[in-house]
Amino acid sequence: MAQLGGQPILIMKEGTERTRGKDAMENNITAAKVIAEAVRTSLGPRGMDKMLVDQFGDVVITNDGATILKEIDVQHPAAKMMVEVAKTQDTEVGDGTTTSVILAGELLKRAEKLLQQKIHPTVITEGFRKAAEKSVEILDKMSIKSGIEDNDGLKNSAMTCMSSKIVSESKEMLAEICIDAIKAIAVKDENGKWDADIEKVQIQKKEGESIDETSLIKGIILDKEVVSPGMPKLIKDAKILLLQSALEIEKTEFDAKLQITSPDQIQQFLDEEERMLRTMVEKIVNSGANVVVCQKGIDDMAQHFLTKANVMAVRRVKKSDLEKLSKATGGMIFTNLDDVTEDKLGYAGLVEERKIMNDSWIFIEECKDPKSVVILIRGGTDLIIDEVERAIHDALCVVRDVVEDQKVVGGGGAPEIETAIQLRKFAQTLGGREQLAVEVFADTLDIIPKTLAENAGLDQIEVLMKLRASHQAGNKFAGHDLETGDVIDNMMSVGVVEPTIVKVQAIKSSTEAASMILRIDDVIAGAKSAGPPGMPPGGMPPGMGGMGGPGMGGMGMPPDMY
Ligand code: ADP
Ligand code: MG
Repeated sequence: MAQLGGQPILIMKEGTERTRGKDAMENNITAAKVIAEAVRTSLGPRGMDKMLVDQFGDVVITNDGATILKEIDVQHPAAKMMVEVAKTQDTEVGDGTTTSVILAGELLKRAEKLLQQKIHPTVITEGFRKAAEKSVEILDKMSIKSGIEDNDGLKNSAMTCMSSKIVSESKEMLAEICIDAIKAIAVKDENGKWDADIEKVQIQKKEGESIDETSLIKGIILDKEVVSPGMPKLIKDAKILLLQSALEIEKTEFDAKLQITSPDQIQQFLDEEERMLRTMVEKIVNSGANVVVCQKGIDDMAQHFLTKANVMAVRRVKKSDLEKLSKATGGMIFTNLDDVTEDKLGYAGLVEERKIMNDSWIFIEECKDPKSVVILIRGGTDLIIDEVERAIHDALCVVRDVVEDQKVVGGGGAPEIETAIQLRKFAQTLGGREQLAVEVFADTLDIIPKTLAENAGLDQIEVLMKLRASHQAGNKFAGHDLETGDVIDNMMSVGVVEPTIVKVQAIKSSTEAASMILRIDDVIAGAKSAGPPGMPPGGMPPGMGGMGGPGMGGMGMPPDMY
């Protein structure tokens, strides 16, 4: 509200809350730190798991940073930006979500100290930007070449990413499945660049058995059964008709009355229906098809004729599945049986109905296009299966990252320590306040090995000192092996490997978020229309969402902020 000759002028809607300057910044930084704190204990193979319960009482148990943040209902705008960091990391590279959030939180925590020393946010963010750029350069330089040919590199990266998951006991076998899946779908373009779209890997889940029964199927699975028990359950050299229309006599669109005056007419009527269905099936059989996959229904009589002709049929298949089948088997999707010709049928080496637990599923394997693969996830309970799915998702992403980017580094804190050491050297070439910001950035990176050690119940400082000493002696991949608890000179030698791009992206997304939060000095919040649903009892920790501190009201700049 401003004043003009004693007359108040309303600028913003009544109820609008505004926090500015130092308060706004402190508020935002606190919120961001709270988010980072929430995921800190889950970092690394010795990290703890979280149990999340939503408003309907559904439970999720996970160790995955992105999932944890997705499940908690965050209200504070700055906290929401931290959640976005995890999301960005997840969509860009699929792993390193916890790392990126922890880094962003630590950057802000340390920036707060710089602010207290009256260094302007612009200077800080500029320093951070330079440091991040340099870090990416350093990471690139220390990387080792890998790629689709490098089986060890792929396997170790996948296993490292799963070692922090609840399902880590089965990581070797799951890693192999993920590698096979990515190799099946990866394509090389004319410039020799690899592209692997993980969307092409279909995921199916079925409760029962154990994780170790999880398997890779080269083909497609339909969550359906053969329509009639008399039909064959296994067909080799399948010629598949993909049909969008029903194998039924169409009902008239409007009400029609049929006047039947004698029993003969009923018979005639039924005969005609039978004849029509018989013709339909004949058309199918004549085309050479021995499998019919239909999006709509199949009449009992048609089923009968199909059975007699030894044709396997599946009905009410989802349109999306039909489209996938079309791609995989090279078959056209038909709406009219008159158009069907043999050369437009799909092909698969094997179509089989298999019983899994109490359900029957149709497996279509050895397809024309070998690029369609399915991972069939098994596990004792829903909770386990969901966590296996998340682990597989991360591992698929990591394998893709290595295939596409072709660079890896040792893990266990090694890249962070090495980057920090080199950054400190770089900082000395800058001087002034910028140097300070770059140094702070370097110190921030140490939070990763420190947190890994802390989560393993070890002394942070001691581990840090040992790591630094080894790096100073020239071991760029010296890290903290959490299997044994020792600091070793080369993490690669114990198979702890990560895609460089995961580390690069973590630095980029955390720096971006921290800088964005640091540049905000004014938070204007519109009046809430109603209490937000699902607000956790007990509310936010102090400092969160707490708009309306001193400094509200007047429009002038807050005095002497920096
Ligand atoms: P994020 O969500 O960031 O990927 P994770 O919980 O998956 O977090 O932990 C990843 C960190 O754990 C990485 O820094 C990685 O190098 C480290 N890590 C994984 N396995 C090991 C291991 N056996 N020894 C040491 N560090 C490991
Ligand atoms: Mg991970």
